[in-house]
Amino acid sequence: MSQLRDAAATDDPRAIAACDVPASFRAAVILASEQKEIARTPAADRDPRKTVHVQEVATPELGHGEVLVAAMASSINYNTVWSALFEPVPTFRFLRTLGRTSPEAARHDLPYHILGSDLSGVVLRTGPGVHEWKPGDEVVVHCLQPDLQTPGGHDDALLDPGQKVWGYETNFGGLAEVSLVKANQLMPKPAHLTWEEAASLGVALSTAYRQLVSDHGAGMKQGERVLIWGAGGGVGAYATQFALNGGAIPICVVSSQAKADLCRGMGAELIIDRSAGNYTFWDDQDRPRLGEWGRFRSAIRSLAGDDPDIVIEHPGRDTFGVSVMVAARGGKVVTCASTTGYQHSYDNRHLWMHVKRIIGSHMANYKEAWSANDLVASGAIHPVLSRTYPLEGAGEATYDVAGNTHHGKVGVLCLADREGRGVRDPELRARKLDQINLFHHNPGAQRA
Ligand code: NAP
Repeated sequence: MSQLRDAAATDDPRAIAACDVPASFRAAVILASEQKEIARTPAADRDPRKTVHVQEVATPELGHGEVLVAAMASSINYNTVWSALFEPVPTFRFLRTLGRTSPEAARHDLPYHILGSDLSGVVLRTGPGVHEWKPGDEVVVHCLQPDLQTPGGHDDALLDPGQKVWGYETNFGGLAEVSLVKANQLMPKPAHLTWEEAASLGVALSTAYRQLVSDHGAGMKQGERVLIWGAGGGVGAYATQFALNGGAIPICVVSSQAKADLCRGMGAELIIDRSAGNYTFWDDQDRPRLGEWGRFRSAIRSLAGDDPDIVIEHPGRDTFGVSVMVAARGGKVVTCASTTGYQHSYDNRHLWMHVKRIIGSHMANYKEAWSANDLVASGAIHPVLSRTYPLEGAGEATYDVAGNTHHGKVGVLCLADREGRGVRDPELRARKLDQINLFHHNPGAQRA
């Protein structure tokens, strides 16, 4: 393994590709042996800093259509928070189910789960049947692993009953020095970005793209008003940029001055600070405080002049009823998550009488992810990264996201020996550096 670490320190993809496949590598894992003890721990007391461990693990065998990637950097998504909290279900359950499907899939059913659904890195080895990629290619990884063995997913991979989220529903995720992916998850790394910036795109970027831009989601048009909850978070910050890039008008909801500043830096003008406004949408008995819902709608109307055509939903229980109410007549509420709770309640009269639509959205198919990645590669959309940790700090990084103390994304260095490496197109970077620096107060951006 030291050969691969030494090669990674040169930041030369040819040196990395020339390395032997190591017998083992370091990875951020949760442990099946801790499952029972964690089940006894009240949810509020569970702590990713205690449940995420960094340890040496064996390199999996490379199968047909698969690729081993030397992971330079990764980032934290909320699914890693769920895995680390063993909520709502321990993810070992997914590995067991996957493991039963075939002898190859059985490789995933291990007493440890390597987490992480984002990665930037260098192709180390390709398995039989891989023809679009070769060792030495610099890549980012799309998290969706389609199966496509039934007709279901052939119009849209999100309809594939066999699809899996890599690093959440599979093993060998991105928070590791080496990762196992399928070839049809790979995309070219945007050449002007550092490793940690490139690793902060993936899940959040492609999810925001499908939710807002794709016809599978809102199919956003120029001039539409888009209410974006959590506009300073991972999905929200990319949704804000897609709205601006597509000629729409984002109305950004945030909970701090720092996140409001981030949104302004991205070019948004309409911002609601929900903390400053002190909105409380539910009372102690879980009854809606309708006056508060109305007050929030009034704030939107006075800021934006009208109701939002699209609402980007993910907080879930706390906000969903409000989202349905504030959407314009004929508007769309597109939801990809339920961070604050899965049981939503809303007044259905707002939906049917004003012919609104609720649209479910999940990640993105490969084509959508590729289109979103292209927009980044061209310099139209920028990474949003607040902090980067070493691999040993993966638990701490997950804790930040669980506690909502970050903005944008939180990065993790895997094989990259320091921040700021991996830039191959310094000219494009120089042209875009002001925006890149604005969007992530990350010292690595200056150093690159
Ligand atoms: P994130 O970086 O933690 O951002 C979430 C944002 O939500 C925070 O910045 C916070 O903004 C806002 N928020 C939290 N609690 C809130 C509340 N009670 N009311 C209003 N806003 C609240 O997470 P993310 O990566 O953007 O992911 C967001 C959610 O989407 C997570 O649940 C994640 O699992 C899910 N997700 C789903 C998919 C999918 O494919 N289905 C993909 C990616 C993410 P403020 O505090 O500033 O308001």
